[in-house]
Amino acid sequence: MNRYRHIDALQLARECIELGARMSTVELVSGIGHSQLKRLFFSHGEMPPCGRRPNAPEWLFERAKVEGAAEASLVAVIFEELHHAGASYTCALVAAYRLYRARCASTPLVSFDRAFDVICCLYGLWTSRTVELQLHRCSACGSRYLGSMHSPSVKAAKCPFCVLLRRHTQERHQSEAHIV
Ligand SMILES: [Zn+2]
Repeated sequence: MNRYRHIDALQLARECIELGARMSTVELVSGIGHSQLKRLFFSHGEMPPCGRRPNAPEWLFERAKVEGAAEASLVAVIFEELHHAGASYTCALVAAYRLYRARCASTPLVSFDRAFDVICCLYGLWTSRTVELQLHRCSACGSRYLGSMHSPSVKAAKCPFCVLLRRHTQERHQSEAHIV
């Protein structure tokens, strides 16, 4: 890695750390090794988050609440727009996560590691050798949302934005009925 590319990589690593990335994610995104990252950014004893890496198909379809699935879809859509506009995968990842966080009215439900994992599975990058996720377009509301490459059909019932909209409408009707 030449000097200028190395400086870019260090800047990228610093941004990932600021966004809460775990060490293995920082290594993969920046290309800088564990010991150098530790020496440069964690010399005072504090350490980045560690533990088992997230697995997008698992948490997205089995454990995530619908709000989390909707927010992960938002990250993927922003990433795709930035990448199609010419941003590299790494720049698009960091910028998409920053834009996603800026749009969140409350605490973001998708961590940087999970956003990274979604992009890996959507494009077959970094930790994922195959494409496991795709962005579907909902035929009911027009939103784009993450689905499995292996899911046999695309149904509006699976669109997290439609689920949230239905839930919001039901809650509003219930509260109006309560007031009346
Ligand atoms: Zn929908």
